[in-house]
Amino acid sequence: MYTRIYILRFPKDTSEQPFIYQLVKQYDIESNILKADILPHREGMMILGLKGSKSNVKAGLEYLQGFGVRVERLAAGIRRDDEKCFQCGACTGICPSGALALHRPDMAVIFDPDKCTGCSQCVTICPVRAMEVSLGQNWALTDGGMSA
Ligand code: SF4
Ligand code: SF4
Repeated sequence: MYTRIYILRFPKDTSEQPFIYQLVKQYDIESNILKADILPHREGMMILGLKGSKSNVKAGLEYLQGFGVRVERLAAGIRRDDEKCFQCGACTGICPSGALALHRPDMAVIFDPDKCTGCSQCVTICPVRAMEVSLGQNWALTDGGMSA
């Protein structure tokens, strides 16, 4: 399964388009909205995690681009706040790349950023919001305040 985060920039006349619905319906892509700033008759921006087959994600992005949506891959840095993480292990079951894994025999939860694909699934599952998407030096997103 292919999972990546993208920044989408929408032309101002597309705010009424059911893009997310079409990604699911036509392209069988799961989406996870990490941030959205879309108002009627204004350019919009959305940070979106997409999960599906690689060919479907590619086709879905081409569908968006057909409406003038600008698509950029987010070179997301996923990071863990070790102060918040209480080693519950919930994230290790969903991490598709093995970047979050249990280390035996001490059962410590290890985070290896080099293996992380930026899919963001850990961001939404972590009960204490210890996993964050870092979007640059000035700001970071956690699941708090995100749309689902
Ligand atoms: S789900 Fe959150 S608190 Fe639990 S191990 Fe993972 S990062 Fe730590
Ligand atoms: S650490 Fe989080 S963002 Fe990175 S691959 Fe695992 S679940 Fe996805």
